[in-house]
Amino acid sequence: MSFLIRCIDCGHTTAYHPSDICCPSCKSQWREAIYPYDEIAPTFPQNIARRKFDLWRYSELLPVHKPLPALKLGEGGTPLIRAVNLGIMLGCPNIFIKDERQGPTASFKDRQAAVTIAALKEAGITEMVAASTGNVAISYAAYAARAGIKLWAFVTSLVPELKMREIALYGSQVLKVTGTYDQVKQIAAEFAEQRGLYLDRGARTITSIEGMKTIAYEIAEQLTEELGLPEDSGALWRTPTWYVQSVSGGMGPIGISKGFREMALMGFTHQAPAIAAIQAEGCAPMVNAWKENQEEAAPITNPKTHIETLATGTPGRTYSLLRKIFKEDRGVFESVTDEESYRAMHMLAKMEGISAEPAAAVAFAGLFKLIRAGTIKSTDVVVVNCTGHTMPAEPLVLGSGWARDIVLPQQEESQPQEEGLLAALSRVAPERFPRILIADDAADARRLVRRILQSQGEYTFFEAANGREALDLVYKEHPDLLILDLMMPGMDGFAVLDNLKNDPETAELPVIVSTAKELTPDEKNRLQGRIQALMQKGGFMSDELLDEVKALLR
Ligand SMILES: *Cc1c(COP(=O)(O)O)cnc(C)c1O
Ligand SMILES: [Zn+2]
Repeated sequence: MSFLIRCIDCGHTTAYHPSDICCPSCKSQWREAIYPYDEIAPTFPQNIARRKFDLWRYSELLPVHKPLPALKLGEGGTPLIRAVNLGIMLGCPNIFIKDERQGPTASFKDRQAAVTIAALKEAGITEMVAASTGNVAISYAAYAARAGIKLWAFVTSLVPELKMREIALYGSQVLKVTGTYDQVKQIAAEFAEQRGLYLDRGARTITSIEGMKTIAYEIAEQLTEELGLPEDSGALWRTPTWYVQSVSGGMGPIGISKGFREMALMGFTHQAPAIAAIQAEGCAPMVNAWKENQEEAAPITNPKTHIETLATGTPGRTYSLLRKIFKEDRGVFESVTDEESYRAMHMLAKMEGISAEPAAAVAFAGLFKLIRAGTIKSTDVVVVNCTGHTMPAEPLVLGSGWARDIVLPQQEESQPQEEGLLAALSRVAPERFPRILIADDAADARRLVRRILQSQGEYTFFEAANGREALDLVYKEHPDLLILDLMMPGMDGFAVLDNLKNDPETAELPVIVSTAKELTPDEKNRLQGRIQALMQKGGFMSDELLDEVKALLR
């Protein structure tokens, strides 16, 4: 849709490209998407009323020009469930659960991944790097699978193996780093930098924030349906008194508050909810800073929680941004112990039939604590985000060897950390992956081949849309293998073969022909002895192509 990127520090506006990471004027990395709200507001409610209840319902307010149906997995549109039994137990009748477990990979990270991957696809980006405490990488891996994007997922070795397996199951490369999450982020950034790849930048990723904000819109619509509007409100939608979420890096609250601010700006609501951000006590840098009234959060270098999903020790500027919002809207930061979280997890299951992962249960433990303290009152309308649960990924499917270990050297005074990271990295990135050239005029066909191969190995790909481009790339990039379509406009595959075979420099290049064409006997003769394998499009299973490629590159 029509939108611009505005720097939150100097106000400079530019057009959007996912790879541009800072403001051209002041170099700030903190920017946000803005839309022509005046134009959108008058017709927005009628327009969306006719649409399906998923996050693309709000497409006028999302930074993707043309969402591709082929990438969708049913993201957004999760239920808002009244917590009847918890309400009776706590004496607070209006508690609602926004059930983000019901996203495609069972966490609210699906919103960020759906929007970000759609934007990357639109910009033609085919490879990306993300550091994750688990769920971000799972969501990105699923959407990357559909988009034909290669994901390098850096996780800490403390992430439950169940979560790591799910990332691998979707065909992404898992890089397991022995170190803290903050070290993992650093090593992922180095890796992306070295190889010139797109890097997920957490809360500075504009598309991720925009994905998250759709939760706010859905809550406003759903709450209005549940409770109606307060008398004399004159607003279109109702907002809760409180939005409660377990927090690690703080992406969720940043996005949700942007959503509520936009709605107020367009006159759809009167008031943003107060946000309660709940952290695990063993890694609660934001809560500590808030309680000490600090403007910046001191890093936690040694997290002491079993709830690894929430172990972000350095919230950086996200804390300062949230602090400002919370001061305006009466928000609070609070922490709970692991034990309180496990108890809340059990309570939620027993009372409401909802099985959540520990990281999600942290929010419920926080809810109990804030009600007991009188911060949340019995008359308040409360929405708690049930942020996720873990899907079991069958271990037998993957066999062994699906993750790579990176062991960081123990940090010593004498050795600067940078060197340790780089040395560890050089062990994971082999200097030279096999180089494969895919020549096909159909972009979908090229994507499919790339996807099949990159889900189970490491290759560098080059793509050509016709014979001429293919030949140029052969000389320029010296591929180790050519996967060649026969029918292409201009110079076709047969002519490419003629050219290759006539030049001693290229005559030995292995070629796999992949074609949708029924070959005539004459055409078969022309290929005889000149190619290594013939694959019929639509007729070959992904494993056959993979086996063929592996055999030829050996
Ligand atoms: C990422 C995550 C959180 C924390 O989200 P942020 O808003 O990024 O701090 C909470 N719960 C689950 C299940 C998560 O995956
Ligand atoms: Zn700026």
